[in-house]
Amino acid sequence: MPNLIPHLIDGQRRDGGERAADVFNPATGEVSGRVRLADAATVQAAIASAHAAFPAWRNTPPLKRARVMSQFKTLLEARAADIAKLITAEHGKVLSDSMGEVQRGIENVEYASYAPELLKGEHSRNAGPGIDSWSEFQPLGVVAGITPFNFPAMVPLWMWPMAVACGNSFVLKPSERDPSSALLVAELALEAGLPAGVLNVVNGDKEAVDTLLTDARVQAVSFVGSTPVAQSIYATGCAHGKRVQALGGAKNHAVVMPDADIVNAVSALLGAAFGSCGERCMAIPLVVAVGDATADAVVAALKAEIAKMTVGPGTASGADMGPLVTRAHFDKVRGYVDQGVAEGAKLVVDGRGLRVAGHEKGYFLGPCLFDHVKPGMRIYQEEIFGPVLGVVRVASLDEAMRLIDAHEYGNGTCIFTRDGEAARYFTDHIQIGMVGVNVPLPVPVAYHSFGGWKRSLFGDLGAYGPDAVRFYTRRKTITQRWPSAGVREGAVFAFPSSR
Ligand code: NAD
Repeated sequence: MPNLIPHLIDGQRRDGGERAADVFNPATGEVSGRVRLADAATVQAAIASAHAAFPAWRNTPPLKRARVMSQFKTLLEARAADIAKLITAEHGKVLSDSMGEVQRGIENVEYASYAPELLKGEHSRNAGPGIDSWSEFQPLGVVAGITPFNFPAMVPLWMWPMAVACGNSFVLKPSERDPSSALLVAELALEAGLPAGVLNVVNGDKEAVDTLLTDARVQAVSFVGSTPVAQSIYATGCAHGKRVQALGGAKNHAVVMPDADIVNAVSALLGAAFGSCGERCMAIPLVVAVGDATADAVVAALKAEIAKMTVGPGTASGADMGPLVTRAHFDKVRGYVDQGVAEGAKLVVDGRGLRVAGHEKGYFLGPCLFDHVKPGMRIYQEEIFGPVLGVVRVASLDEAMRLIDAHEYGNGTCIFTRDGEAARYFTDHIQIGMVGVNVPLPVPVAYHSFGGWKRSLFGDLGAYGPDAVRFYTRRKTITQRWPSAGVREGAVFAFPSSR
């Protein structure tokens, strides 16, 4: 009987909901567990717990809340390897990649522990005669977070640590495909001293999400996932009066200029295209090579380097790339490779025939490389989210930039060049939220914020960093006068000003 993954409500592991879904080990194709799928009543119980915990937590001094985050960080560091093992077991990514994910999550917790400094607000003495004015950043109440499968531990840590450090309570709905690491992480927060109810975890699918989006007690929603779902969550959440940020999908282009250091660029591109099996919203699935000579050199070097890659279970030492997350996703990604061939792109490396000995039922697809990808093709337009890299040939930097700007997504991009002027022109003008120069995955550090442009983000504020402090708080501005004893003031009918 596979283990049944529960919810975490009011500080306790709980059942709830008649339905459950299989969780797979992607390296073997075996069912490793079953996850509860919460019904509306279960989600409402989690919201009620968060709602009840909010008043006391809101009034807890920020420094005490921050101390819980510091202790939580210590526990995360001690248990990082266990969390990484859970990620690899359910997601499939290689262990070193899972450890990297946990570390980036820990950095978000570290930043959340600075919340007292970040919440200090603004103060103006003598805004008028005897009048002082100040702005406070007050917590919202119950906040919900809905997260994707591809960073099952890190993306939740983008959200709830800063939300609770700011004084909110939280209900997290992790991906039902790999839910175990987020649950362990939440239990460590309780062990660190987070009061019961301040953080609840409900496992589930659309039914759970719909309940979070429509319950009047939920004040704000942070979502990360695919663009169609992000757009619908943004619309529904806003229609129900909630503050919503919904981060969506991506199709990130890397421009390689004729003067680039091709050896270093290709090494960077390999990791960015095939790390985590391409299942990253900041992955590079497209190379835009400027000039045919550049394209020929890049394709030849990529082909040679791909031949040296090792694909295997994420637990195997020396594996560079693991399997895709589920059978359904494997079929979808493989279908895109078939599609690219049918569309006339040149398949230079075909990973479709890969067999990993002893893991024949795993969801392994070898790295695939296309040359001569054209903007009209579906493999150019759509997010594949797998180990499929396409090379597009253009004649100039301006042509490369026009392509990037015309794409519906605007998450990340990068340029490889030795030319400072070209790099500066690119970073200044490109219509993309996160830009790298000789850096393939320009994922901002925890004290900056993460956010794409165009259809990669619905809402005004990005994830984590300073944007998170603003998203998880409401500004209140107070203007105060204490008249001196005995001073009588007449009515003033003109609009008050400082003239
Ligand atoms: P997904 O959209 O399928 O699921 C994300 C979450 O939404 C999950 O918790 C899921 O249970 C829930 N969900 C799915 N369908 C729903 C529906 N119809 N109604 C309500 N809730 C629903 O995404 P995924 O496959 O888990 O993750 C991969 C996607 O996430 C990719 O598109 C990737 O680019 C994107 N992503 C974006 C970022 C970013 O920061 N922009 C980061 C990571 C992943």
